[in-house]
Amino acid sequence: MDHNAERRLRHKRAMQRKKAHVDERIAQAVIDKGLMVVLTGNGKGKSSSAFGMLARSVGHGLRCGVVQFIKGQWECGEHLLFASHPLVEFHVMATGFTWETQDRELDIAAARETWAHAAALLRNPAVQVVLLDELTYMLTYGYLDATDVLQTLRERPAHQHVIVTGRNASDALLELADTVSEVRDIKHAFNSGVRVQKGIDY
Ligand code: ATP
Ligand code: MG
Repeated sequence: MDHNAERRLRHKRAMQRKKAHVDERIAQAVIDKGLMVVLTGNGKGKSSSAFGMLARSVGHGLRCGVVQFIKGQWECGEHLLFASHPLVEFHVMATGFTWETQDRELDIAAARETWAHAAALLRNPAVQVVLLDELTYMLTYGYLDATDVLQTLRERPAHQHVIVTGRNASDALLELADTVSEVRDIKHAFNSGVRVQKGIDY
């Protein structure tokens, strides 16, 4: 056998072993359930990943709810795309960034009002996917009662998926989640003086 033929054969055998292993693991995963996915960490990519899952869900015709707990300065593309979509109920917290309002009482009132929309979605069995963007900050600032938030997440309909984003997700959130990803900051253009770019950042 020439060298190339031998290499092809070795590759084929290795791929057969890999396929058998992957097939076996796929065969073992037979559970369907509503997942809780947490996207945390200091790197860029948490909200955009969450909205990627929302796009997939809408593509499949699933009924979705979005609650954004921090309103940015810029009108974000995900809001422009999904807010008027018939499958998506979209709520944005009325205030701006917390360091812009500089009023704790106002922030707390806005957080609670916004959470009421989230809680209604999390109690509605007709809603299949709920995205709670930047929820973690409401808990780290103590704007929302963590026990109440965790209980509402835990008691949501069994088939309902929920996606939570934000830095510094608490241990209790991580424990309740089925899937957790931490996005690590390796470098970000902002630190080289590049301003936010439409499509990439908002
Ligand atoms: P994205 O919405 O782009 O997925 P994110 O949700 O992971 O980002 P946030 O902390 O919510 O990150 O911040 C949103 C905005 O801040 C985006 O414009 C994003 O590009 C920017 N950003 C995210 N991470 C960093 C970072 N490590 N340094 C500087 N800017 C960042
Ligand atoms: Mg984000």
